[in-house]
Amino acid sequence: MLRVAVVGSGPSGCYTAQSLVQLDPSVRVDVLDRLPCPYGLVRYGVAPDHEKIKSLQNNLRTVLEHERVRFLGGVRVGGDGVPAARLRELYHAVVYCVGAATDRHLGIPGEDLPGSWSATEFVSWYSAHPDAVDDGFVRGARSAVVIGVGNVAVDVARMLARGAAELSPTDMPQAAFDALAASRVNEVHMVGRRGPSQARFTTKELRELGGLPDAEVTVDPEELALDPAYLDPAGLPAPQRRNVEVLRGWAETPGRSAARRIHLRFFLRPAELLASEGRVAGVRFERTAPDGQGGVTGTGQYEDIPAQLVLRSVGYRGVPLEGLPFDETTGTVPNLAGRVLREGVVAPGEYVAGWIKRGPTGVIGTNRPCAKETVTSLLEDAGSLVCEGLTADPLVALRADGVRPVEWAGWRAIERAEAELGASLGRGVVKLPDWQSLMTAAHGNEAATPQKSTNCSRSLRSPT
Ligand code: NAP
Repeated sequence: MLRVAVVGSGPSGCYTAQSLVQLDPSVRVDVLDRLPCPYGLVRYGVAPDHEKIKSLQNNLRTVLEHERVRFLGGVRVGGDGVPAARLRELYHAVVYCVGAATDRHLGIPGEDLPGSWSATEFVSWYSAHPDAVDDGFVRGARSAVVIGVGNVAVDVARMLARGAAELSPTDMPQAAFDALAASRVNEVHMVGRRGPSQARFTTKELRELGGLPDAEVTVDPEELALDPAYLDPAGLPAPQRRNVEVLRGWAETPGRSAARRIHLRFFLRPAELLASEGRVAGVRFERTAPDGQGGVTGTGQYEDIPAQLVLRSVGYRGVPLEGLPFDETTGTVPNLAGRVLREGVVAPGEYVAGWIKRGPTGVIGTNRPCAKETVTSLLEDAGSLVCEGLTADPLVALRADGVRPVEWAGWRAIERAEAELGASLGRGVVKLPDWQSLMTAAHGNEAATPQKSTNCSRSLRSPT
């Protein structure tokens, strides 16, 4: 019998577990996650108002409830948690599905000024990630700049432009809801360094901005026309052509008056974040022009957009996991069809799937074929992997190491606590936003104390 650990319970981890149990009738899979809650970016990245995408959790749930799959939450791998090498002692194979945990940087002056945040930090806050920091975000802000024109930029711009009535039915944590409901941000500038035909957002997400009840989208037809492909979109691939058509519609239709405005801007690359009284006060952009090869060049002309909140939404980036090789250039683990490569050589029993394998691109469904490719590689190797005999149940061994996982019943207790919290607030489900309340719900009060490791040389990370 093949025993596999999948590290990470987001879409790539769940699809990996699903492929494993579908393709091998005897495999047993433990899905480990450092958080006590499963589903990764579906829980902590998909915007709270995207109920339909969030309902994918129901599909992922059936995977984690499969009789040959176990969810072991609250188990950190690497760092001060369970060493990667220990997992190799307990399982025939380990598949790392740890995603891309951090954000890319702009590398421009003022990037770290108070009031300037990565979109990831903002998303984590309104998604109730227990590591999120609440530092006011929208407090005192009237104008926000979102740098980047991908789907995450669209998400954060939309969340800034929604009113209390639209946010109330979501599972957003109460503090974020209160802050956004009271927000006075009424100008949101979403800015791309290239042209409208090169924006990374998808048409469905773009179009949604135009359907917000109390927000108006503005685009400047002259700025759009700087893009030759905007003027002649016939040669564009269908997704980009559709984006251009939506933008053209907004450019040609006079906007209705609304409480908030979302300005879509193009051909402006960030040069510097401007400060006033120690906080961000705006962004200086350089006007760019197409270079004829898909890129842009600077024109030496600058424009300042005032903003008291800046969200940098320029893509995610993978982080190295102790004990695994890492390619700093791509932010991924070197691999061959999912098999981890150490100095160019396949490392037996170690695999990757999802963003840590291919980089932070694609929609949730992209993870399905990606996971299947990895699982196919793993099962091809299975004959040599199961030669290594394993004794104890890995869960028994992990417990003996001092690890105290949140099992499925613990996660279900968190779900119940979130439903109860929502009912008490007169809302639907409302997420628990911090380690203490999550661990208390999962284990009861005594579990909120730090865990100690015995056999493992390092202690486990305290849930604070
Ligand atoms: P993304 O799609 O890679 O977009 C990143 C944006 O940042 C691009 O507009 C890029 O411009 C810009 N950028 C990068 N470096 C920059 C710099 N130095 N200065 C200015 N702009 C810069 O990343 P993402 O929005 O984080 O999304 C990640 C993945 O998640 C994507 O595959 C996305 O589709 C997916 N996602 C999907 C949904 C959904 O389906 N609803 C929601 C959220 C995320 P250039 O193109 O010029 O590099």
